[in-house]
Amino acid sequence: MKVLKFGGTSVGKPERMHSVAKLISSPDPKIVVLSAVSGTTNALVDISNKLSNKDSKGAEEAIANLFGPYKSFVDELYSTEAGKAKGHAIVKTYHDLIRSYVGKADFGDKETRLFLAQGEIISTNLFQEYLVEQGYSSALLPALDFMKTDADSEPMLDYIETKLNEQLAKFPNKHLYITQGYVCLNSDGEVDNLKRGGSDYTATLIGAALRMEEIQIWTDIDGMHNNDPRIVKRTFPIPEISFDEAAELAYFGAKILHPTCIRPAQVRKVPVRLLNTMQPEQKGTVINNTPSDRDITAIAAKDGITAIKIKSSRMLLAHGFLRKVFEIFENYKTSVDMITTSEVAVSLTIDDAKNLDQIVKELKEFSIVEVDMDQTIICVVGNFGKEKTGIGKRLFDAMETIPVRMISYGGSSSNISILINGGNKNEALNALNEKLFFHAEKV
Ligand code: ADP
Ligand code: ASP
Ligand code: MG
Repeated sequence: MKVLKFGGTSVGKPERMHSVAKLISSPDPKIVVLSAVSGTTNALVDISNKLSNKDSKGAEEAIANLFGPYKSFVDELYSTEAGKAKGHAIVKTYHDLIRSYVGKADFGDKETRLFLAQGEIISTNLFQEYLVEQGYSSALLPALDFMKTDADSEPMLDYIETKLNEQLAKFPNKHLYITQGYVCLNSDGEVDNLKRGGSDYTATLIGAALRMEEIQIWTDIDGMHNNDPRIVKRTFPIPEISFDEAAELAYFGAKILHPTCIRPAQVRKVPVRLLNTMQPEQKGTVINNTPSDRDITAIAAKDGITAIKIKSSRMLLAHGFLRKVFEIFENYKTSVDMITTSEVAVSLTIDDAKNLDQIVKELKEFSIVEVDMDQTIICVVGNFGKEKTGIGKRLFDAMETIPVRMISYGGSSSNISILINGGNKNEALNALNEKLFFHAEKV
């Protein structure tokens, strides 16, 4: 069995949904995970914010803007009157549900999470109805019946395996199953989600839970590129990449994959293939256990980073200084990405600045603290074993005109991280691209 995930753009228009139906029409068994129609989750975030802020008028407007275009979507998706009627009924159900919250006294986190789930619920219901209209024999499996996270918001792989098998057993004669990406139940049994972009995670969790032969992520580009194609012109797809490299790139900003989605596939050794819905004949990228022998594989960038420099108020780093520093971050469940140290100071970065004020206050009790917001981590992924020479030179040559705030080399043999001001990101990505992939003297 395979799992195939189609992202927001891949189901973003009626004709795209038609193409997806063609792509999944072979008789081999598969579970198909869909995202929300592109733009829907953003609109649901916006509506939720407006309702949280008691802006009923703004929310009404945003609801109308979201659901208006679904009318023509339905008219173009189905070819029969019966199909169109069912499609309109589906849209009306969720439109009514969302509108019923306008003007309600308290709209909080729980309601927001419920709202965010509706995008995938709508897209899968519309798609399932389209498959029925077209004579496919498919079953819709509600993600809420098997996808669950624990008290630490970590997916419960064994639970998912058991519950998913129970769901599949209900339809012994079917070979095609449709389900929602992103949506899950949390440990309190409430509707929740796997964080933005989380439909990829749903797919890898399903593929890992059922130890499938392959996980396919279908999107709007022909695989994982060597650099961010939204910023850099001359990028190219990477045919094969290891789980470690892909995980690193996803974590450090390669938007094509949800940051933590590689982990379950890696743990259960299920290859992940990235494919293009618009160009299905392209090879894309396969992510597997084969280590590469490339020097440099790819570059990614992660924005919105906060850098904190912590200088010991004593002359030299005393025993226990680092422990005291890191205990504070641990207490606030704030993970640290980059670290560099000197004799009297340590600089580190965090991407979740929610508890920054408290953290800084506690650090200041025994050190001098400097904070820089809006930083970007540039992450270069490749094979930087101990014996390699010359890579640092190429990096610094490329960064010749760009101020570097921190650099971390040697923490892992597959990653070099460079911290710069957010405003210099585009220049840095382009300069590194040219120097590392096109004008590179071989190391
Ligand atoms: P989906 O809606 O299918 O989940 P996403 O928008 O989340 O798609 O991810 C695909 C997008 O990721 C591409 O259109 C591309 O612009 C962006 N992207 C960023 N970095 C990379 C990269 N290194 N390789 C490929 N795509 C990337
Ligand atoms: N629809 C969700 C989002 O926009 C999940 C996803 O598309 O992966 O974040
Ligand atoms: Mg995505």
